[in-house]
Amino acid sequence: MIKEIARDFYMITLPMPFRLKHVNIYALVHEGRVTLFDTGLNTPETVTALETGLSRIGRSLREIDRIFITHRHGDHCGMAGRLKDISGATILMSETDYAFIRFSGDQDRLLAELRSFYLRHGLSDEALVLLGSIFKSFSKMIGTFPLDHALEPGELHRVGERSFEVLAAPGHSLGQVCFFFRKEGILLAGDHILPDITPNLSPDLFQTDFRPLESFLSSLNEMQTLPVTAVYPAHGRPFTNFLERIVEIKEHHRERKGLTLASVRGGRKSTLAVSIDIFGKDLPDFDRYLALNETYVHLADLIDEGLVLEDIEHNRCFYMERPR
Ligand SMILES: [Zn+2]
Repeated sequence: MIKEIARDFYMITLPMPFRLKHVNIYALVHEGRVTLFDTGLNTPETVTALETGLSRIGRSLREIDRIFITHRHGDHCGMAGRLKDISGATILMSETDYAFIRFSGDQDRLLAELRSFYLRHGLSDEALVLLGSIFKSFSKMIGTFPLDHALEPGELHRVGERSFEVLAAPGHSLGQVCFFFRKEGILLAGDHILPDITPNLSPDLFQTDFRPLESFLSSLNEMQTLPVTAVYPAHGRPFTNFLERIVEIKEHHRERKGLTLASVRGGRKSTLAVSIDIFGKDLPDFDRYLALNETYVHLADLIDEGLVLEDIEHNRCFYMERPR
């Protein structure tokens, strides 16, 4: 599905075989050339959907000349390498998130890192095997690609008469960026600010000093000062209540941190045990993993605030309220 959101500016909705079922990517057309913002997964269905969408506005995959990527997740950049093969497009994303793409070619090391982290936080061997197979099936839908330009926050890029700024948007991933068209007030938000769900916050297994919640909240604080009139997210419908949504997201995390603290008040617990207190027992496998990540992120924040203590025993982590 393709929809014009401003003159020569399009939202293209592509299918996804899991979870949110779709991802929105964006395209700017100028003098017959297409600038793309995110790509969707690398599957036959997504390639056909993008091709069909572009053909509706008289354009083709061969006319894509630049691909700006918000972040490293496969539903955002999975097709970039394939598109580059077709059109020779230049690929631009943050170096921080690209480091993960470069590394993800080494599946064995990635799976070993995942295994050791989630074992420490309470996942069983059985759950880890399952998680490994989910990651392997995802990786088939994500192609690797070379990086032509490392995006830096504050950079200004032009497409014809239009210009847009690169904004740092860490939290959901360490190196996520958003694209802001100041003159029109349009924010391409990636997964930073979504209309119906809060973006999942996960630890970065290769950058252990990264504090997702702290970075996320401080980037929202910076972003809320911008003259944003319309937010175009990667998942869900476009929206205009930008400031209201930021307040809701901050409130959500405040509440979750309260629940996390209440859970460890009840005794010494693993991250998994805390996440079961908060999210319940009966979650599908991948949701269990996301819930565990989010719980870990809140625990890490509470540790930094001096409210929670971590205890490591036989390579397993446990959490408790810090006695006052
Ligand atoms: Zn994402």
